[in-house]
Amino acid sequence: MNIALIAHDRKKETMVNFTIAYKDILEKHNLYATGTTGLRIQEGSGLNINRFLSGPLGGDQQIGAKIAEEDMDLVIFLRDALEAQPHEPDIQALIRLCDVHYVPVATNLASAEIFIKAIERGDLDWRSVRKTDMFK
Ligand code: PGA
Repeated sequence: MNIALIAHDRKKETMVNFTIAYKDILEKHNLYATGTTGLRIQEGSGLNINRFLSGPLGGDQQIGAKIAEEDMDLVIFLRDALEAQPHEPDIQALIRLCDVHYVPVATNLASAEIFIKAIERGDLDWRSVRKTDMFK
């Protein structure tokens, strides 16, 4: 499965710890991330990450494009809900596309943990048949 990992600055340490804790599950999948988040995860966990641009420079939109193309199966986006982000419209657009394309999106650690365990159980295997006429 293709999994996107994004974390705002004050959530990056949490994201790195999350990827270390669930490395055995995550390493079985194709991992994507915005630029700085991806670098921190690579350095902290040793996981192989396909990195896009930094979020404020368009990375969220690049991930959004993959969602629109039915090429992303899960998004874990640890948002900082207490600080305004300069690229808020991009963040809203990404989450909106998740809703449009039925992509599970976790925006905090509690839901991220549930999703990662669901992946391991195979609960999201239905995503592999996603390229049907579902959205046409
Ligand atoms: P970053 O982007 O990983 O490059 O910091 C994340 C974001 O703020 O969307």
